Amino acid sequence: MIKTKVGIIGAGLTGLVAAKELNKKGFQVSIFEKLNQAGGRMRTETIDGWNLDVGFQVLLTSYPYLKKHIDLSKINLLNLESAATIFRNGKTTEVGDPFRTKNILWKTIFSDIGGFGDKKLIYKLKKQVDGQSISEIFKTESISTFEFLNEYGFSETIIDRFFKPFFGGIFLENDLSTSSRMFLFTFKMFASGKAKIPKNGIGTIAQQIVSKLERVNFHFESEVVKIEDQTIYLKNGESESFDYVINTIPNYQNRKDSGQWQECYNLYFEHKSPAIISQPRIGLNANPDRLINNIFYPSIHQNLKMHKGKSLISITVLNSQGLSEKDLAKKVEKELESDFNIPEPRLVKLYYIPYSLPINKQPKNYVAFDYSAKTFEVGDFLLNGSQNAACKIGGLISKHILEVKEL
Ligand SMILES: Cc1cc2nc3c(=O)[nH]c(=O)nc-3n(C[C@H](O)[C@H](O)[C@H](O)COP(=O)(O)OP(=O)(O)OC[C@H]3O[C@@H](n4cnc5c(N)ncnc54)[C@H](O)[C@@H]3O)c2cc1C
Repeated sequence: MIKTKVGIIGAGLTGLVAAKELNKKGFQVSIFEKLNQAGGRMRTETIDGWNLDVGFQVLLTSYPYLKKHIDLSKINLLNLESAATIFRNGKTTEVGDPFRTKNILWKTIFSDIGGFGDKKLIYKLKKQVDGQSISEIFKTESISTFEFLNEYGFSETIIDRFFKPFFGGIFLENDLSTSSRMFLFTFKMFASGKAKIPKNGIGTIAQQIVSKLERVNFHFESEVVKIEDQTIYLKNGESESFDYVINTIPNYQNRKDSGQWQECYNLYFEHKSPAIISQPRIGLNANPDRLINNIFYPSIHQNLKMHKGKSLISITVLNSQGLSEKDLAKKVEKELESDFNIPEPRLVKLYYIPYSLPINKQPKNYVAFDYSAKTFEVGDFLLNGSQNAACKIGGLISKHILEVKEL
């Protein structure tokens, strides 16, 4: 029997999930990936003996489609505290969910990140999202998160000191211009599950899927330059034809319908002094005019002995203020010394991630495909910028191709 041939471009979460599902049904699947490894925006590189995620990100265990496609029980995960340490004007404040974090109740109540009314509103919001399904959330009116928080009654103080750095770090933008649907969805996911980090790097997620794809032909370092009539053309001059093509390149030929994108920088610094946050917890910078938005210490769970007790700090910068990479690294280094009291940090690596998250004005939770099409452009950008959406769209496109074949 001649097998249906599917060519997938991109070995990120979308491409890998689609490959897994089609492979299971006996399709002949080939993946073409520009880089020398799988994972896409969820990949880990080893530099100077440290595992560096290319862009700091976390797993939310409530993501339904992530759980459907990834066996989280087989991944060595670090539990993040449901709390944050906030840095402002040379002082630190600790805030968190008192039901899930030890010794945080009084610190949260007496913190200066917002008034008592704000803290009551957070509980009201939690109750609201508990009662809403994900589908219902994606049908709510889509306004900016900033407008939503204002209309909900939150004070300017809590918006500036907590929501902006915390959700800014998630949405990868400082103004909270991201749709309120994404805010409610993410808030629900945080409230109903846990935030975790794979101890061996975010890339282990992709590795788990890759290990199951024995019959898939992987072509690494194979940059696709053109797709025409289900024929994939590579930069090295080779080409191959397929029955169906699934293209997951985020910004394919800068097409308008793949939308606009947030960019961000992720910098890693090593320092000899102890970590300024000793718990597995995110640090937020609430100082005005900041470069550093949020920090995390991967050295909490990496082998310190091998690094002679040095700490590794991951820094997310959302707005580079027009600086060159060299000047940005220098300025971040100075900010670490002045605002965080970290002496002599040494830059390990700077990553610039131009297509970090899609900007969806109307993020969605579902999309249907054309039954006559044979080439599909899919990725998180079709639904919403999340690992959950990448898993979901990978599943949806494979289901669609299976249905078409059965018609
Ligand atoms: C800094 C950062 C933080 C994030 N934080 C979170 C978070 O905390 N929670 C969350 O849910 N989501 C987060 N995300 C989003 C999440 O990582 C993405 O939604 C998801 O990884 C998208 O997967 P994808 O397969 O659709 O796209 P990608 O991972 O971008 O995959 C596309 C693949 O195509 C390849 N490619 C590109 N061009 C070519 C070409 N010409 N030829 C061949 N191959 C090509 C790329 O190398 C890549 O492997 C974050 C993203 C970033 C960047």
